[in-house]
Amino acid sequence: MSPAAERATDVLVIGGGAIGASVACFLRRRPNPPRVTVVERDPTYAQASTPRASGGVRRLFSGPENIELSNFSIPFYARFAVDMAVDGTPADIAYRNGGYLFIVPETGRRALVESLEVQHRHGARVDLLDRAALASRFPSMFVDDLAVAAHSLDDGWLDPNSVLWGFRRKAVALGARFVADDVVAIDLEGGLVRRARLRSGAIIAADWMVNAAGAWAGQVCDLIGMANPIRPMRRFEHYFECETPIEPLPYVKDVHRLAFRPEGRGYTGGVPDTDEPRGFNFDVDHGYFERVVWPALAHRFPAFERTRERSVMAGLYDQNDLDGNAIIGPWSGRCANFLLAAGFSGHGLMHAPGTGRAIAELILDGGFRTLDLARLGWDRVARNEPYRERGII
Ligand SMILES: Cc1cc2nc3c(=O)[nH]c(=O)nc-3n(C[C@H](O)[C@H](O)[C@H](O)COP(=O)(O)OP(=O)(O)OC[C@H]3O[C@@H](n4cnc5c(N)ncnc54)[C@H](O)[C@@H]3O)c2cc1C
Repeated sequence: MSPAAERATDVLVIGGGAIGASVACFLRRRPNPPRVTVVERDPTYAQASTPRASGGVRRLFSGPENIELSNFSIPFYARFAVDMAVDGTPADIAYRNGGYLFIVPETGRRALVESLEVQHRHGARVDLLDRAALASRFPSMFVDDLAVAAHSLDDGWLDPNSVLWGFRRKAVALGARFVADDVVAIDLEGGLVRRARLRSGAIIAADWMVNAAGAWAGQVCDLIGMANPIRPMRRFEHYFECETPIEPLPYVKDVHRLAFRPEGRGYTGGVPDTDEPRGFNFDVDHGYFERVVWPALAHRFPAFERTRERSVMAGLYDQNDLDGNAIIGPWSGRCANFLLAAGFSGHGLMHAPGTGRAIAELILDGGFRTLDLARLGWDRVARNEPYRERGII
């Protein structure tokens, strides 16, 4: 390799989806920003998870870190069009404050109420609904087998692809460089990552590297021998309509992971299966809607009895098989300048702004400043101590 092919940057971000582009944006928004290079191997994002996501954003978590990540990220998305505008063109992401609803049977009451107390302590406006209140707020819902619900009023959904491009365009306007190439090797020297080697033969030396490679993040860790629990997990997103008009619904989620929201004339959503074999599988199972989604949907909302799937996409979760939570921060104890921003397990889009801010703080301020995410760091993985969400995930 000729040394002439070697370039240098301060921060090299591997992967330019919502997470990588947000990291680039938050770094470049700082005064005296560092040089930021994002290596994204596919500028069409044909297989990336971000454009395939459902777009739900919620505060309905049990973990304070996840609630606080949402407390920052959701208002950030509400202002996104204006704050991420480039040359006066708004970055519209079709943000809708439609609310979010978790519904549970008696067996789920305790976890839901305990989580709700944490959400309230962290300032979230969440109503606890008993069966009667639920039926009166959402008359089309079958509630006889439900006990309670948590209705988060300030949550909603947005268009994931617009978020990705909004962050990316803003990052570029602020001076980040996007390189269409593939990181195929990383040089480690003296316990630090020093250079990324790209498929084209180019080499980029960097002071910091951020692994924002989504479902491929485990593979990027493998490049430096970092055994990790992040695996690709297939999930389908279905679009369907309802023949009979019903009341406006929030984003609805139940204990069996049926999750869907209004989209245009219809609805989008699905039922993720955590038993799904891990792997880079984009095949669509055309019987899944009929077999799994439709029965759950028609049971909960009889108006969907005659609904059929109109379209379906397969996408990948960057599933953290240790505990289903993100890993944010350095490879502690081993390599201080290699940071992870991956393993979001279905929550990456809603937490992209908070994650971008957190990574910028770690790099530029030497530690978390606004929100302490230490419990989402690598240490728990090294100790094999899961930090799980309770209740619905
Ligand atoms: C069906 C579905 C529904 C979802 N619904 C929601 C939801 O409602 N709310 C929510 O918050 N989240 C949701 N998610 C999860 C969300 O999509 C992800 O957590 C999030 O998009 C992850 O963003 P990312 O930037 O890390 O990954 P990606 O968008 O996948 O970006 C990673 C990028 O890294 C690039 N890359 C990988 N390896 C390399 C390499 N070696 N060199 C260069 N580039 C590389 C890839 O090309 C890719 O573009 C959903 C996911 C799916 C599949």
